[in-house]
Amino acid sequence: MSAPAPTLGILGGGQLAQMLALAALPLGVRVTVLEPDPAAPARLCAEHLQAPYTDPAGLERLAACDAVTLEFENVPLPALAALEGRVPVRPGPGVLARSKHRAHEKEALRAAGVGTAPFVVLEQESDLPGALAQVGGQGLLKTSELGYDGKGQVRVSSDADLRAAWAELGRVPCVLEGLVAFERELSLAVARTATGEVALGPLVENVHRHGILRTSVFPPAAPPATEARARELARAVAEGWGLEGLLTLEFFQLAGGELLVNEVAPRVHNSGHLTQDGGGVSQFEAQVRAVLGLPLRDWAPLLPCAMVNVVGVAGPDGQPLHPDWAAIDALAGTRVHLYHKAWRAGRKLGHVNLVAPDEATLQERLVQLEALIP
Ligand code: AMP
Repeated sequence: MSAPAPTLGILGGGQLAQMLALAALPLGVRVTVLEPDPAAPARLCAEHLQAPYTDPAGLERLAACDAVTLEFENVPLPALAALEGRVPVRPGPGVLARSKHRAHEKEALRAAGVGTAPFVVLEQESDLPGALAQVGGQGLLKTSELGYDGKGQVRVSSDADLRAAWAELGRVPCVLEGLVAFERELSLAVARTATGEVALGPLVENVHRHGILRTSVFPPAAPPATEARARELARAVAEGWGLEGLLTLEFFQLAGGELLVNEVAPRVHNSGHLTQDGGGVSQFEAQVRAVLGLPLRDWAPLLPCAMVNVVGVAGPDGQPLHPDWAAIDALAGTRVHLYHKAWRAGRKLGHVNLVAPDEATLQERLVQLEALIP
């Protein structure tokens, strides 16, 4: 008789859990997600425990899995505490404590020898005077916790702006970052098994729109030494933080080629979605493998590829603007990925991957694809 299928529990049931489950199934892995939303995207391809993340019965079921992973960083601490010592949670509480809090994250990055934007921690009103000058006079005020996709952050260029931004964000603990004049944004994922084996993903170039990722491209147009440096930094973070599982680093690449880390996501990342269709192992398969201790090597697309996000956009009349799906399907090399979510302005609803035989063709078709997606 064959061994029972390995089981993977996921805290969260959104689109990342949906795509993790879709990558796990062909490996013979069964997935269970704990997610309160009855309409969660992952419910369609995994066993869905519809309950709060701290639900004792739900956590009991996750504790019976071979390993647990997560698709968002703000997992309630009591949920992690209930699983501790019963089932490996990867990434574990040590990595999450760093990555869910911007100030702790930056301090932990610097401790691992990784550069970040200049920053000042603002805990109370009396910390505001002089803070902007310390980061270079132009900055972004970001809440220390619960910010994502440009939410919970305000651009500031004067002390008056800073005071207004502090009030706008609710007078909660914040990090004031200096505005980085980057040449491009890049990202790279790193996976590490419980036995300390490290595997690295591809370096990807990212373009944001209104703080939300719009496009990712592989390979990036970065200077030649950049990839080796990004890999070195990712390895330093994975080892320095004792990573088990997968995390993604978002970088700012400066004009001289230097890399600063903007943010760390303790999971697969929107910029890695293009690995689903570029050939070879995807970031989702890499996370499943790293978490369950299955064999894992570096992963990267075999062909040039790109991704364009489908985000809810409204026209001047407030009505949804839809992508031209027929034209997208007619464009060679596209693959559509939808998340089964109801339309809402600013919401990530899906993405379209594009693969091409060479970089020139990729760029040409990417221009066409972008014109089809509002
Ligand atoms: P975040 O939510 O911190 O990942 O920020 C979203 C996007 O805002 C980033 O990908 C950048 O495009 C931009 N951004 C964030 N922080 C900075 C910064 N310190 N300097 C310049 N741009 C930034």
